[in-house]
Amino acid sequence: MLEKLTNFISSFLELIFGNLRDLFSPKEEEVVLIEPDPEDLEPQDGGDIPQDTIVTVNTNLEEMVVVPEAETPNLPPEIPPVTEPVPEPVPEPAPEKPTAPRQRYLWCLDNGHGKLTAGKRSPKLSDGERFFEYEFNRKIVKGIIKALKKHGVRYYNVVPEVNVDNFLKGRVLRANNVPSDIPKIFLSVHANAGPGTWTSAKGLETWYFHGSRTGRKLAAVFQQQLVNQLGWTNRGIKSQATKQFYVLRRTNMPAVLTENGFYNNRKEVYQLLDKDIQQKVITAHVDAILYFEKYGF
Ligand SMILES: [Zn+2]
Repeated sequence: MLEKLTNFISSFLELIFGNLRDLFSPKEEEVVLIEPDPEDLEPQDGGDIPQDTIVTVNTNLEEMVVVPEAETPNLPPEIPPVTEPVPEPVPEPAPEKPTAPRQRYLWCLDNGHGKLTAGKRSPKLSDGERFFEYEFNRKIVKGIIKALKKHGVRYYNVVPEVNVDNFLKGRVLRANNVPSDIPKIFLSVHANAGPGTWTSAKGLETWYFHGSRTGRKLAAVFQQQLVNQLGWTNRGIKSQATKQFYVLRRTNMPAVLTENGFYNNRKEVYQLLDKDIQQKVITAHVDAILYFEKYGF
């Protein structure tokens, strides 16, 4: 009897407070239903590379990241010395330096996966929680967007929705089709996974379309900024002739994919959850973007 009464009270409370909870919890973003496409099963990121794939790796970034020399200013012709004393010119107040927005490229920012993507999460952590890659990628992209707004750099958030699957074809179509009067660059942000439940693999790597010179330069600059900011293992810039990642292969613009640490590495996963580390990842991406906004290729 007592048990029945307890059950009744508990379901009554659930009914009342469950409804209240639904009322006050934030609305989930709209689910985007997209026809499943066989191309969506193609490799998405570093975690999907078969063991037998031949990967081109280069860890020597210095030779690829050459900062262009400063342009020689157009100097006025030399003025002959004057014999008559001339009054000191009254200094004019220095004009306010305009913070001219640099708008060389439209940066298509891709957060890699959605909430509905299978896998792409860590094993259970000590507190019973897991690291979800889609959450991390979104935090980084969000931070990049905040900084780009400040710098006046143009961007396009490829997948603002959360409740999506990996959605590879959709990502590429959106970026390819977004109208732009300036050239576009595709930047896909990820965290990595090594084989097995937990992995000893660690560090940073950046991927580009095999054989693309602009892609290689993009990758080198992003990789160097990441290594500078985080000081983690430099796994180099990478490309592979076969089984290339869908977003690198099908985008019609220079593209780069960053792999920011391994979420199934027992040490790195906790670093990736750390806000200060996340900020460093954001800063590295922003600095790389500002490099290209300043110098181009
Ligand atoms: Zn990924």
